[in-house]
Amino acid sequence: SKATLFDKGTRVNITFADVAGLDEAKVEVMEIVDFLRNPKKYTALGGKIPKGALLVGPPGTGKTLLAKAMAGEAQVPFFSLSGSDFVEMFVGVGASRVRDLFKQAREKAPCVIFIDEIDAIGRARGKNAMMSNDERESTLNQMLVEMDGFGTDSGIIVLAATNRPDVLDTALLRPGRFDRQISIDQPDLAGREAIFRVHLKEIKTSQELSVRKLAELTPGFAGADIANVCNEAALIAARRNKAGVEMDDFQDAIDRVIGGLEKKNKIIQ
Ligand code: ATP
Repeated sequence: SKATLFDKGTRVNITFADVAGLDEAKVEVMEIVDFLRNPKKYTALGGKIPKGALLVGPPGTGKTLLAKAMAGEAQVPFFSLSGSDFVEMFVGVGASRVRDLFKQAREKAPCVIFIDEIDAIGRARGKNAMMSNDERESTLNQMLVEMDGFGTDSGIIVLAATNRPDVLDTALLRPGRFDRQISIDQPDLAGREAIFRVHLKEIKTSQELSVRKLAELTPGFAGADIANVCNEAALIAARRNKAGVEMDDFQDAIDRVIGGLEKKNKIIQ
C-alpha cells in the first residue's frame, strides 16, 4: 500500500503482531522504539540516538507496514509521504512540502516520519529519470536541512524505504542522517506461512486449510501478494455462493495473482 501524501500525524493501531516474519528487522526497529520511549536513558551515557533508518527491500515486503507498526508500538503519531508523489512537480513545491511535514512533526513529537520511495528524491546527481534535476535537488536539499535541524533527542525518528539503495545520494547516508540500514527480505517458505496466518485471520474458511501448502504454492510472493491472494480467494468463494473459502478458491486466487505478476513483469521488460 502506498503511503498517502501527508499522512498527517495519524494514530495507528498496527503493531508488530500484524507484521509476520522479518524477525531481525523487528529487533532493530524495537531498539529504535526504545530510543523514542526513553531517550534520556541513552543520552545520559553520552550516546547519540540515531535520527533515521533506511528500510531496504523489494516492493510489497512490508516496509510501510513495519514503519506503521513502529509508530503503533511506540504509541506515537505517524507522518508519511512518498517520493513518487513529488514526480512532475514545480520547482520549490517539493521542498515546501518537506518543510511543512517536518514542522508538523516537530509540533507532535515524539513521532515517526516515514518517507516511502526515497530514491525518487534521493537519487545521486544525474541518475534520475523521473523528476527534473532542479526539483529533485531542491527537495533533497530541504530533506538534508531538516534531518540536520533536529537534535537526536527530539523524539523524531525518520524512516525511509527504498528498493534501490545503490542509486541514493551518499549525502543521505552520512552519520546523523540515514545511518542505519535495515534489510527487509522477500519472505521464505516459513515467512510466507506466517504471513498467510496473519491474513487468514480475516478470512472465513469452511474447511481446515493447510497453511504450509499455501506457502508452498506461492514461491516468490511478497507479503503484499499474499494479502492479495487471501482477499481474492474470499471474493472468488463469495461469487461461488459459498459459506466459507475453500482450498480450490485459494488455488484459483493464486493462479490469478500469478497471472497478474506475469503481466506486470512483461510490462517492465
Ligand atoms: P512498497 O515498496 O511497494 O511500498 P512495502 O514494502 O512498503 O511496499 P507494504 O505496503 O508494507 O509493503 O505491504 C503491503 C501490504 O502487504 C501490507 O499492508 C500487508 O497487508 C501485506 N504485507 C506485506 N508484508 C507483510 C508481512 N511481513 N506481514 C504481514 N503482511 C504483510
